[in-house]
Amino acid sequence: MPGKISEVLGSAAAIAKGMGVTFKEMMQPTLTEDYPDAPPNFQERYRGVHVLQRDENGLEKCVACFLCAAACPVECIYIEAAENTDKLRISGGERYAHIYNIDYSRCIFCGYCVEACPTDAITHGHGFEIASYNTSTLIYRKESMLVPLPAGANFPLKAEPVAHAEGGH
Ligand code: SF4
Ligand code: SF4
Repeated sequence: MPGKISEVLGSAAAIAKGMGVTFKEMMQPTLTEDYPDAPPNFQERYRGVHVLQRDENGLEKCVACFLCAAACPVECIYIEAAENTDKLRISGGERYAHIYNIDYSRCIFCGYCVEACPTDAITHGHGFEIASYNTSTLIYRKESMLVPLPAGANFPLKAEPVAHAEGGH
C-alpha cells in the first residue's frame, strides 16, 4: 500500500511539473513568423547569400587571393583577378577581383569561404529568396553581392579594360 501511495504522489508531481512548463510557455510571446506577409527575423549568425565588403575608404576588401575558392568544398566560387594601378585602384591590395561569381545551385552555405578570407571581404548576409526554375539565374556576380559605395567616394569604380592577371577555377 505505501508503494501505491508513493507511486500516485510521484505521478501527480510529474503531471504538476509538466503543466507548470505548459503554463509558463503559454505566457511567453508568440514566435510564429508571418512570412511571406512580413519579413522573417533572422539570428545574426544566419548564413544567407554572401556579401562582398568594402573598407572604410570604399575600396573593395577582396584582394583576389583565391583562398575562399580553394576552401570551398563544392568549387562554386569563380574568380578572375586583375592588377590595381595608380590610375585605377579598386581594392587596397595589389590585385582585386575583376570577376567574382558564386553559383548558388551548388553552394551549401557552409561558411568555409568566410572563414578562409584573410581580409573579411566575404561575409554571409541574410538573403535567402533565391529559388529559381532556371539554374543559370543562380550564378550571382560580384556586382549583385558587393555592398554599395559609401556616399562621397570618388575613386574609379569600373576597371575597363583590364588585364587579367590570373584565372580562377
Ligand atoms: S558557403 Fe561553402 S559552399 Fe558556399 S561558396 Fe562558401 S565555401 Fe563554397
Ligand atoms: S573574398 Fe577573401 S579569400 Fe576570397 S579572393 Fe577575396 S580576399 Fe581572397
